[in-house]
Amino acid sequence: MSKRKVRVRFAPSPTGPLHMGGIRTALYNYLFAKKNNGDFILRIEDTDQNRYVEGAEEYIINALKWCNLEIDEGPGLNESKGPFRQSERKPIYKKYVDQLVESGNAYYAFDTSEELEKMRELAKKAKMPNWQYNTITRNSMKNSLSLSKEEIENRFAKNEPCAIRIKMPRDEDVRFYDEIRGWVVVNTNNMDDKVIFKADGMPTYHLANVVDDYLMEVSHVIRGEEWLPSAPLHILLYRYLNWENVMPKFAHLPLILKPDGNGKLSKRDGDRLGFPVFPLEWTDPVSKEISSGYREKGYFSESFVNMLAFLGWNPGNSKELFTIDELISEFSLERVGKSGAKFDPEKAKWFNQQHLRSKSNSELAVLMSKDCKYKVSNDFLEKVAELMKERATFHHELLSEDYFFKSFEDYDQKTFRKKWKINSISLVNEFFAELNTIELFNSESIENVFKLFIERKEIGMGALLPCLRLILTGKGMGPSLFSIMELLGEEEVMNRFKEKSMFFEKLFLEKSDT
Ligand code: GLU
Repeated sequence: MSKRKVRVRFAPSPTGPLHMGGIRTALYNYLFAKKNNGDFILRIEDTDQNRYVEGAEEYIINALKWCNLEIDEGPGLNESKGPFRQSERKPIYKKYVDQLVESGNAYYAFDTSEELEKMRELAKKAKMPNWQYNTITRNSMKNSLSLSKEEIENRFAKNEPCAIRIKMPRDEDVRFYDEIRGWVVVNTNNMDDKVIFKADGMPTYHLANVVDDYLMEVSHVIRGEEWLPSAPLHILLYRYLNWENVMPKFAHLPLILKPDGNGKLSKRDGDRLGFPVFPLEWTDPVSKEISSGYREKGYFSESFVNMLAFLGWNPGNSKELFTIDELISEFSLERVGKSGAKFDPEKAKWFNQQHLRSKSNSELAVLMSKDCKYKVSNDFLEKVAELMKERATFHHELLSEDYFFKSFEDYDQKTFRKKWKINSISLVNEFFAELNTIELFNSESIENVFKLFIERKEIGMGALLPCLRLILTGKGMGPSLFSIMELLGEEEVMNRFKEKSMFFEKLFLEKSDT
């Protein structure tokens, strides 16, 4: 038998912004497809019109684009097996549900939502809180299995709304192999007669999902663990539709857990603990509430993707930094874990920091030039990048120090109080006088002058360096001061010295007066 072409689909419902767990599902599908020379399909599962949220589909597409998860087929793209929006496939499903009724595996159900609600209430009162429409209760409900032939015909004649439910067999084990969890067995006594086709003529998720996976020739269904309980129903649908021979393989991905490991990560955890749970910022179309996004917080999409890859998968060695191409070549479902993956917001930052460090200064300078409010050359920005790189987590932090671009306005009062002493001004004056004489104004020679100077004066570094740093940057700490001096250049260094050493000395004298 020839090997089946790998075709996977990411099938989100446009019910709001895509949570990072959704992007992880998309990512694993993408990696699996690319690793196996397969196709990555985007299918929009919008059968539930009541839950449709304006802008959600666009959000999904933009989020995939930002993460560079390029789709091969999707709405408006290579639609020979489309359309890829379920709402546009409405006429397709009817035929299959009719087939299921015909073969006795599905039936008409006339119960109204009020009647169903009433049943649930009654059951609750009788201390059976989880009432289900199933092999036992269906006999006392209004459906084509319990009602007489005349009554059914009567209801059809009156055009009474009716749904179609799957007819669960009694006491049968449904077995299937999950690529991540191994064999899963569920007894049909624990399953209910789910609605597969609604009175409004739309299929529900279960039927649409199975029919579409079949028609789109999907070879592997890779999705979140929350769909594992639905899988046995899907297996039965494949069986009843006689598609078992082309049934896709299933892989249910582990949950993404809260940082403390207690339960599934939710939007509220992000709000509470101050990290985004969405790839891109999202404004709720109704409440106008804004949820933060990784992109807007300054994360590189590469590091976001790298971080997500590790939420459930690992390469089996200690390598953690991966480009997308490396992820593609290393990825396999065998290395996806069964147990939930704890999300660690600090680790997310760490990934960004590492990706930042792995970029060249010229790449960083290009990014910086977009945000920099000062007119400087990219060459200059490259040097700022070099100095700031090791201290930054996000690329905008490379521009967080104004002293690279102009003399400071605010200064660090604590450092001034602690470090500016009675003899500071004479040390500073003498040091700058010596500096004036050096031939090559670079960090090495400056450092040399500095070292000889403190040696001769028999003072520690701490008696002079903080004062110099205050004068030149207004700060108590930062990257190598000698390198900063080289970057600023002799003229600027001397100007700041003239202006700021007197400024601090005056402050010092005023302070001593009082
Ligand atoms: N529409 C489902 C969701 O929103 C897709 C589940 C599946 O992949 O089968 O997650």
